Amino acid sequence: MKKIGIIFAMREELEETKKMFTDIKEHLIYELKIYECKSDTSICYLVESGIGKVNATRTTQILIDKMNVDYILNVGVAGSVSKEVNKCDIVIADKLVQHDFELTIYNYEKGEIPNIGKYIDCDEYLIEIAKKVKIDSNVHIGVIASGDIFISDENMGAKINRKFDALCVEMEGAAIAQVCRLCRIPFLVIRAISDSPYEEDNHLTFDEFLKISSNMAAKFIKDFLLKIR
Ligand code: SAH
Repeated sequence: MKKIGIIFAMREELEETKKMFTDIKEHLIYELKIYECKSDTSICYLVESGIGKVNATRTTQILIDKMNVDYILNVGVAGSVSKEVNKCDIVIADKLVQHDFELTIYNYEKGEIPNIGKYIDCDEYLIEIAKKVKIDSNVHIGVIASGDIFISDENMGAKINRKFDALCVEMEGAAIAQVCRLCRIPFLVIRAISDSPYEEDNHLTFDEFLKISSNMAAKFIKDFLLKIR
């Protein structure tokens, strides 16, 4: 049986997926609550990392070192920066980039990390499985951009879309990608859209859609987990 670490930034995101399991055991590591959940095909470790790249990074390393996971998934909500991507749509990342990483003065491209590169690819096998998931929502595959900022400015959103060809923005995925890449753990980031900086007051739309979109992401994960080997 494969061991799958599933990282959520927020409790609301985690709860929607946790509801699907009945047999749950709790671990506490450095004050991180890790819920061990058994399905027919895998053992899942659900954890709320907290918001942002640093929280996401340490959580990923803990799952790898302490739980010996075979795969890591990052699941949650995100803001759309593409006109094609609407609320409650699912975005499967094919690659991740840190939109706030900048060494351009040294002739690196925006988002390019020395010895890592600009984009980090998700695992091909996990992407293939994600493509087969049946869900009552639009599904897109493309770049997800992460950074330590809630994007509520329309121009900033459009710039990230243009510069990185990103479909949506969030605050954890690319950090998780980098740790997984360095530790050679296959990973995938899956997000459901909660808001968009192209609309006014998207911080309020976020609040309104957090649970609904998290539930959409949870439905996606439910079918996804059945297919994974
Ligand atoms: N309301 C929360 C803060 C939410 S931060 C509080 O008060 O604590 C937004 C979270 O959702 C992050 O984890 C991020 O990954 C994701 N997200 C959704 N929409 C986003 C956007 N427009 N910009 C950046 N991150 C977004």
